[in-house]
Amino acid sequence: MTLPKTHVSSTTSVTSTILHGHSTRAVHAGAKRKKPYHALIEPIVQTATYAFDDLADIQAFIAAKEQGSVTHDDYGRYGNPTVQAVESRIAALENADSALLLSSGMAAITTTLLALLRSDDHIIITDDCYKRTREFIETFFARYGVSCTTVPMGNFEAIASAITPKTRIIISETPTNPYLRVLDIDRLVQIAKTHNLLTLLDTTFATPINLRPAQFGVDLIIHSGTKYLGGHHDLLAGTVVGREDLIDQIREHLGMLGGIISPQNAFLLGRGLKTLALRVRHQNNNAQQVAEYLESHPGIEQVWYPGLLSHPDHEIATRQMEGFGGVVSFTLCGTLDETAAFIDRMRLPYITPSLGGTESLISQPALMSYYKLTGAERQAIGIPDNLVRFALGIEDIEDVLADLEQALGRKQNAV
Ligand SMILES: *Cc1c(COP(=O)(O)O)cnc(C)c1O
Repeated sequence: MTLPKTHVSSTTSVTSTILHGHSTRAVHAGAKRKKPYHALIEPIVQTATYAFDDLADIQAFIAAKEQGSVTHDDYGRYGNPTVQAVESRIAALENADSALLLSSGMAAITTTLLALLRSDDHIIITDDCYKRTREFIETFFARYGVSCTTVPMGNFEAIASAITPKTRIIISETPTNPYLRVLDIDRLVQIAKTHNLLTLLDTTFATPINLRPAQFGVDLIIHSGTKYLGGHHDLLAGTVVGREDLIDQIREHLGMLGGIISPQNAFLLGRGLKTLALRVRHQNNNAQQVAEYLESHPGIEQVWYPGLLSHPDHEIATRQMEGFGGVVSFTLCGTLDETAAFIDRMRLPYITPSLGGTESLISQPALMSYYKLTGAERQAIGIPDNLVRFALGIEDIEDVLADLEQALGRKQNAV
């Protein structure tokens, strides 16, 4: 069979030496210069399986595969050229060896952990990780004999003292939701290396434009591609990026667990990725301006944004990140209902808990992600009634500020 070799690095014809900038990489990295039919754009290879010329061809394929040299894909669950082109672009953006795309962020997290851990292993996880990630580790994994210790975010003494001979991996997130806490990655990697542990970081809120954890020695990086990478609120996707030996092991398990991304969604993700740097820089800027505006507004109690001097992790964020991200959290001077009324008055952002796309989104965690808890329970875990999360889109900042002004202004008049 004469199909081109689909594994990307060896067919890259734009040399990596000229792919310095984030935007150049977002557009060109991993792309084969010559594509089928002379198409400029990588086609959507919408196929479930791949055919062989004859039985001799399939035997040659099997022999090559046994020797570890993959010549092409044989079945859609094991590989797809559209998917592989996007994977190599994500790996380049992260400055990492290798990337694997999956059907959602949660598929990336669960497939990774199922691939790497076995019963009797122990996990350390920081407490403000994504709710479903914690639920998977604390509840689901416990049923299979994988134990965990949950430690406060940023408390490295707690991490060090949670390590046991059974500990395999430390899992954390940066920046976190909703207070945008920023983890000191150097310290985390130092502790992990001392004890020979793997590190896994969910950096969905940062994107590879603002933070590239592989450069700090983090083994595995996870993104919900549903957020900034896709960037248009029109697909679900997930990715795990990092050390080649680990990614190969996870890819092998993905063939069994089956949470693959469709070629169509991979194409959309790849299309979204081309503008990642443009969008993220604009969102960084929008968020910084919104944070500064809110901090100086008398109707606002407190603002959390790593780009503000007042944020507890401003110093680490400045040292570690290239931009501070597109999410701002704040508390209003007001009650649960007054906060809800403010959100209802906002005209540009849609009301929903996601983030990262072209449209701005706004949410009130007390009434949305944490609706099951009582007010006292929410207060105890640090989710006050008047908390608002604003995930900036790519709208013009003047319009966003004018919208905030009218929504806050009217509230003040009403009080
Ligand atoms: C959304 C999100 C996830 C889950 O991703 P899905 O694509 O929705 O499965 C995981 N981690 C973080 C930080 C997220 O924001």
